[in-house]
Amino acid sequence: MSDYKYLLRFDDICPTMDWNQWNRAVELLDRYGIKPLIGVIPSCADPKLNINPERSDFWQYIKMLQEKGYTVAMHGFEHVYRTKNKGIVGVSKQSEFAGLSYEKQYKMLEEGKKILHENGVDTDIFFAPSHSYDRNTLKALNELGFQWISDGKGLKADYYKGLRLLPCINHAMPKKRLGKYITVVCHANEWTKKDGFDELDVFCKEHQKEIVDFVTFKQQPVGNHIFNFVVEKMVVGYQRYIKKYR
Ligand SMILES: [Zn+2]
Repeated sequence: MSDYKYLLRFDDICPTMDWNQWNRAVELLDRYGIKPLIGVIPSCADPKLNINPERSDFWQYIKMLQEKGYTVAMHGFEHVYRTKNKGIVGVSKQSEFAGLSYEKQYKMLEEGKKILHENGVDTDIFFAPSHSYDRNTLKALNELGFQWISDGKGLKADYYKGLRLLPCINHAMPKKRLGKYITVVCHANEWTKKDGFDELDVFCKEHQKEIVDFVTFKQQPVGNHIFNFVVEKMVVGYQRYIKKYR
């Protein structure tokens, strides 16, 4: 039995996403019996995700995926960047949340949660666009009853402001195994540019036995907060400066 566990995470799920690419993803996941974590945007206003005509039964469809064993996370609110704040993780120079007041962030997150709830989808998992959040985001999420964040660049899970943060080091397919619990972030709409689909197919074939659902994945040990913080800074520095210029 392998020590490693992988979680597949699909971002940017919204009514106007690229449905052809997403359907390919579902077919592949079904073939390997994989139940991913999917990041649903409550009220998408990102023009980059306005790809296909709006799916009118979107929320029904999401509920069907939940029944199938997929786990839903709330992914941002509108998926639109409002500030140039890097937030805690610091991988991106733009954010939907970081830098805004606590009250403003609370309102946005509350509204997002309400939209999901009114459409019959409840979740206590969150991740922000571009890994960008600050202390106020985490405080507001905690106040609103969220418990899990799929984010951070440490090697181990972290416990912060009443939330459990499950790190998410790689942007896409991991080349090296960093940590024992590894989140693989997928953007099906990017498959039109380069064929990440084939890459994912090969990955699933190779790691089928190690890929778990969120319920199993979240049962991972929590690391030391200070140690995680230091590792996170090192990982982000490496990814920003060294990897980029190699
Ligand atoms: Zn996104």
